Amino acid sequence: MNINLTRLKSNILKIGEIGRKKGEGITRLAFSDVYYKASDVFKDLMKDAGLKVKTDRLGNVFGKREGKNNDLPSIMIGSHMDTVKNGGLFDGNLGVNAALECIYVLEENNIKTKHPIEIVSFNAEEGSEMGGTFGSRVMVGLQDPLENGLADKLKKYGLTLDDVKSSIRNTSEIKAFLELHIEQGGDLFSKDIPIGIVKGIAGITRYRISALGEANHAGTTPMNLRKDAMMGASKLMVEIEKIAKSMGAPFVATIGVTDVFPGAVNIIPGRVELILEMRDLNQERIEKAVNKIKKSAQSIGEVDFKFELLINKPPVKTSRRIVQCIEEACIDKNIPYQIMASGAGHDAKAIANKVPTGMIFVPSKDGKSHCPDEWTDWEDIKKGTEILLDTIIRLDRIL
Ligand SMILES: [Zn+2]
Repeated sequence: MNINLTRLKSNILKIGEIGRKKGEGITRLAFSDVYYKASDVFKDLMKDAGLKVKTDRLGNVFGKREGKNNDLPSIMIGSHMDTVKNGGLFDGNLGVNAALECIYVLEENNIKTKHPIEIVSFNAEEGSEMGGTFGSRVMVGLQDPLENGLADKLKKYGLTLDDVKSSIRNTSEIKAFLELHIEQGGDLFSKDIPIGIVKGIAGITRYRISALGEANHAGTTPMNLRKDAMMGASKLMVEIEKIAKSMGAPFVATIGVTDVFPGAVNIIPGRVELILEMRDLNQERIEKAVNKIKKSAQSIGEVDFKFELLINKPPVKTSRRIVQCIEEACIDKNIPYQIMASGAGHDAKAIANKVPTGMIFVPSKDGKSHCPDEWTDWEDIKKGTEILLDTIIRLDRIL
């Protein structure tokens, strides 16, 4: 059974042309005309492959291939069709087209699976007013239709609460979900390993940390009498980096936002606000790091620190059984792999809360993604798609 790389490449490039601007990468924002145009092209590709195609009212697209027993729930495979602004060729696009390629190969080899197979191409995985992975969160019922302010946000995209309600699927119709995606980090690429098997998707915890000192005259206040919020915040930042490194991978901590008040060249900062983001596969480890950081903040004498929790999205584990299946596929095909965490959020993360889920990574050249330079070697794409197909067949047998 062979993946047809020429066909897969041509389909990836075909979708990649939609929303592409020379020198600016690809922009197919959720709910945009360009997004729907790409979805229509993909729907036609699925129809040509003999799939029964459906679209929900949020613009998620499905294509179903019948199984031997259509009373069984589907094995669902896919990814997302929307991109960030000035994104790359493979983010999302790879997963939907690799899923379609698997269908072609099953057809060509007259392989009928026991379970129906359903391709999904999600809308709004990247950010929208409603937050990331909106399409998949709604599908599995994780988006509360009664969430405060949701109706107003939807209105901006011409959508209603009814559109959300009608797009919720009964998850008992889905036996398992598989997503092939680029790693969007440099781990596989730097180690020259073509396949990553995702054991879990990192949780995200964000705090606003306020360093509280005293604003005062920058010319007349001697160094020993200052309560400089900026200096205090800087000391804490250095400690945060040390703590993050001591936690070990996959723990990461980032301070991506700082605000200095009042923010003038001749005034000692009275208050500094930092947004600290931490990610890890284990919620307890994140909490442990927070405690260390708080303790460290207490030891910085000249300023007080206030911690305010902004977001806590717990990590999600993928299915151990599916991880095992993907691993067996790699061993069988003699393709090197590593079992790893995903630091980025994905549709698979939302779905893993409700349905046994597996995720396969292929390397991102120089670890780059969400930019026009995003690249993955075509040979790695072929390997990733082969493993995806092999895993579908294995899962169909054991589930
Ligand atoms: Zn993606």
